[in-house]
Amino acid sequence: MRVEIELNFSETLPPVEPLRCGSVCPKCGEARLDYNGVLDLQCPKCGFVAGGGGGCT
Ligand SMILES: [Zn+2]
Repeated sequence: MRVEIELNFSETLPPVEPLRCGSVCPKCGEARLDYNGVLDLQCPKCGFVAGGGGGCT
């Protein structure tokens, strides 16, 4: 007998999109990320910084 198990994780976990210039801030969700002076994506509203450009601070 074959038992099929349906996984519905997709309903609870939103798709993870890579942060890029213009992406909505994942922290406050109100502003959009833009590059700051050191090529890190930063939210102008809450100050969230998405590193990953290559440098560790
Ligand atoms: Zn923000």
